[in-house]
Amino acid sequence: MAVRNLLKGFAGSAENLTSDGLRASVLDDFEQTGIAWIWASDADGVLSYLSPAAATALDVALPSLLGQPVANLFETDPDDPDNRSGRPLGFQLKTRGRIADVVVRCALPEARTGKPVWLSLSGQPKIDSSGKFHGYRGAAKDVSVEYQRKIEDQRLAEFDSLTGLYNRHRMNRRLESVLAAYKAAKRVCALMMLDLDRFKQVNDTMGHQAGDNLLQQVAERLRNVIGDRGEIGRLGGDEFQIILPDMDDRGKLGELADKVIQIISQPYPIDDKRAIIGTSVGVAIAPYDGLESEELVRASDLALYAAKNGGRGQFRFYSADLRDEEEERALLLDDLREALAADELQLHYQPVVRIADNHVVGMEALMRWEHEERGWVPPGTFIPVAEESSLIGPLGEWALNRACRDATEWPETVRVAVNVSARQFTANGFVDIVAAALESSGLAPDRLELELTESVFMGDSETTDATFAALKKIGVRLALDDFGTGYSSLSYLRSAPFDKLKVDKSFVDSCTQKDQNSAKIITAIIGLSKALGMETTVEGVEAFDQLEIVKARGAELIQGWLYAKAMPQAVVLANIHSGEFKIEPNGPDKHRADRRSMFRKVGIIHGDHRYDVVIRDLSKNGAFIEGLVGVPKGTPFVLDLGGGQLVVCEVMRSEGAQLGVEFETPLVSDGAGGLCTRHRVSPYALAAAGMPLTSFAAGGATPLGQQAPSSPPQFMQVQVGSGG
Ligand code: C2E
Ligand code: MG
Ligand code: MG
Repeated sequence: MAVRNLLKGFAGSAENLTSDGLRASVLDDFEQTGIAWIWASDADGVLSYLSPAAATALDVALPSLLGQPVANLFETDPDDPDNRSGRPLGFQLKTRGRIADVVVRCALPEARTGKPVWLSLSGQPKIDSSGKFHGYRGAAKDVSVEYQRKIEDQRLAEFDSLTGLYNRHRMNRRLESVLAAYKAAKRVCALMMLDLDRFKQVNDTMGHQAGDNLLQQVAERLRNVIGDRGEIGRLGGDEFQIILPDMDDRGKLGELADKVIQIISQPYPIDDKRAIIGTSVGVAIAPYDGLESEELVRASDLALYAAKNGGRGQFRFYSADLRDEEEERALLLDDLREALAADELQLHYQPVVRIADNHVVGMEALMRWEHEERGWVPPGTFIPVAEESSLIGPLGEWALNRACRDATEWPETVRVAVNVSARQFTANGFVDIVAAALESSGLAPDRLELELTESVFMGDSETTDATFAALKKIGVRLALDDFGTGYSSLSYLRSAPFDKLKVDKSFVDSCTQKDQNSAKIITAIIGLSKALGMETTVEGVEAFDQLEIVKARGAELIQGWLYAKAMPQAVVLANIHSGEFKIEPNGPDKHRADRRSMFRKVGIIHGDHRYDVVIRDLSKNGAFIEGLVGVPKGTPFVLDLGGGQLVVCEVMRSEGAQLGVEFETPLVSDGAGGLCTRHRVSPYALAAAGMPLTSFAAGGATPLGQQAPSSPPQFMQVQVGSGG
């Protein structure tokens, strides 16, 4: 048979024929068993023999295989975890060494359709006594089942089965190897950590199936945004991680994080319903924030916590002064619980004024908490903490009762608005709580306005609809707060019976900037609201130029500092004269965008001196600085904002101890309403200058400029207090 002919071709002398005949028939029988197949190649690497059964298994005609170079017929799997060296078969054959258990599949196009058949190929070079190479003789085995299982195990070990993203194990390993390699190459790498906001609600109200579906859609969206810029993993639950090699520009990273947040926050179609979630993002960058993977992961975790605490839907860069916020939140929650029990919380009221006649038509109740050590804690900090626990229930109930009671002391034309958290709104018994607050205070239902945000539409829509209907039946008014910041779906407006839209402050903040669309959006929202028979309140008007714009755009009701900040009930009562409550606008002519008054000690470097100064006012393009006297205009400085953030600047104004400086390169948003430099001085650069290579430690200013000065200081430093 075939094998016999083959053996005759090269092997034996006549004397051995009997034993060769026996061997051939044994081989024939062996081929029949199907345990393994036999193959041979000639000295040129051309396939000269293959068990016919092998061709059958490969689903290829034997003649199309024979006579072809083995290296062209079979290919190794680039994803084979055991062949990561990536050496192709041809390379191995060329070495004329032994080949042992190389897994290959047929490379011919006809064999590539359907399920791949994987062969394990072994072979021995045939070399005669004169050292001449005659090709290979070997065996092949169908290992498809085992190989497929191995690949699957491998996939399971590296991939998250639900989303197909890398899993935690793989991400950890990747990060470790990337960081190790980058440290040597002095390269940078960013790590983004994501945590979905309100995912739990979707899971709870729509079911796990829906939750799984949602996670898959999230993964898909992340793949689309990140593309080949980085590697994405799902660490478990609703936690995702992205490794972004060679990224350290915080301007670009901030933009990317914003994009991720926006895309994740778009509604998800699930079955016939829609689910809405958000995400918070924490970013840490090696080598600045950590050199080792553990350090960098912790830094990005802390940044993520900070982002979540900052009100969700935000990104945050790691900075050394971020404390372990989780612990912090737990402490805050304890204190808040105590404060509520001890009746230490307050409710202040911010007037809503009718532009036409300056009459106060309503007041929004805003919670205030003065902590004995921390001072005033902003509601933007403690409300989210309460929302994460069940404390928001009693907290909200307290506010509702107090507001209704206080409002009964106001003129009847003045309404009271109370903020209601989504979690509070969707909880059982909310309607009863509202009814009870009205009943016990005696407030007319149409004087109570509940301010809801779009997140109430997150939950089960039937329950939400029922709650809306029940509230309408009681006769309270409903307002949609922060409109324009969330999902701003017009379908909510159609389905829910709102009496009012509140235009978010963020549009007003930017409405005076020429190239902004904010003013147009304000016009659109007001128009929409009027068309639907709703009122509109524009929030956050601080200056006259803003007032003029929103007025021109059709605004009638304003809530903003230009008229009044929130005030305690005693002040409200003192303001109410003879049943008429009017407020004249009073404030700056122009809104100054993006300026923050502050008191922050920083360093300023001139020559080889480092002076301590205080930043009073920081914007993207410049700062006001206090602490140096007699600095001429035009003096170049380097401002040291700490943590490797050095800003080249020039003095534009100089008056006494006050300097106005302009930055050579503008700062970028740090995601938390603050500003930071795009780039930082690399720890590699510092290491090259003789500093030990460490990531930037807490609170430390850049160690630059601490070298012993060689010339006397040129400017006089003066002490400035935190007072003014
Ligand atoms: P909100 O409901 O959108 O309230 C408006 C916020 O904008 C208030 O911040 C108010 O002080 C501020 N504001 C109004 N006019 C201006 C202005 O001209 N300039 C500036 N810079 N800010 C202005 P506040 O009091 O810090 O409250 C923040 C958020 O905390 C509120 O946003 C609301 O979502 C939440 N909150 C406050 N009190 C309660 C409460 O009793 N229950 C619930 N669930 N949330 C509350
Ligand atoms: Mg509100
Ligand atoms: Mg608002």
